[in-house]
Amino acid sequence: MGVLVLGTVTLDTVETPEKRVQEVLGGSGMYAAVAASFFDNSIRLVSVVGDDFPQDYTDILSKHGVELEGLRRVENGKTFRWGGRYSDDFNVRDTLFTELNVVLDFHPILPESYKATPFIFLANDPPQLQLDIIQQATNPKLIVCDTMDFWINEEREALDKTIQHVDILILNDSEAKLLTGESNLIKAARMILQIGPERVIIKKGEHGAISVTDSSFFSAPAYPLTEVIDPTGAGDCFAGGFIGYLASVGDTSESSIRKAMIYGSVIASFNIEDFTINRHRTVTKDDIASRYQELQEIAKF
Ligand code: AMP
Repeated sequence: MGVLVLGTVTLDTVETPEKRVQEVLGGSGMYAAVAASFFDNSIRLVSVVGDDFPQDYTDILSKHGVELEGLRRVENGKTFRWGGRYSDDFNVRDTLFTELNVVLDFHPILPESYKATPFIFLANDPPQLQLDIIQQATNPKLIVCDTMDFWINEEREALDKTIQHVDILILNDSEAKLLTGESNLIKAARMILQIGPERVIIKKGEHGAISVTDSSFFSAPAYPLTEVIDPTGAGDCFAGGFIGYLASVGDTSESSIRKAMIYGSVIASFNIEDFTINRHRTVTKDDIASRYQELQEIAKF
């Protein structure tokens, strides 16, 4: 049915206890678009890069079938750069730098061919940009939005406005606590529902994700991995897999949402097995189906 993805396309420098990689392909929009591409073949990316962005990286996105008409390249501009360092057990990540660069002056105008896309994912980006996209969309069936500590701290007012216009807010456990000041996640989710979305999905890393509405609760397990190489982008892959699956079935019922969360967990699990989206380059439909089945078994009782 088509998924429109707004989010960053970045050059990431990532340090893990084992290795450091510099200026690899990253970005919330990039991870989400590639993840969604495993399910739906009309993934339309809206983002911005500078003229320093390597053509090889653009080619990787094209190979995944991501439509790039909405990817603006700014002459004499510098691509968004982000750096992060993980602790020994990967449970803590320190952001070393966030250089917004070309994102600061980005005012996206949706290409005509994108405007009527029914499924919209607003990955991490300035909340005002996220709202701009909502206002330009002509046929939204489902609007899913992600955010993170950076935007909660820097752009709280704009973020609240954006959240009022989305159907599902996805965020991680520490961000839900930061947004509400409430440490009980169920209470935090209910407080967020008061702002406007009809569903809140809280990601809990290796402990899976929960979905909360006024009348339902669901807990999706994470795929049990024994070796973590780099968790960067796992949350974006969860959300991309989630909305990609929903678009592929054209349905937003509770039952499809639950399956979509499991598919999101599966795609995120592959992402963690290598840096950037290296692992996704070899993942097959059978690999996805097999982990989906394993998760079904794990959750059965
Ligand atoms: P995650 O691990 O899901 O938090 O996503 C990490 C990705 O998000 C990296 O590729 C970063 O380049 C990108 N990123 C980091 N900070 C921001 C931000 N403030 N806004 C948008 N994207 C960001």
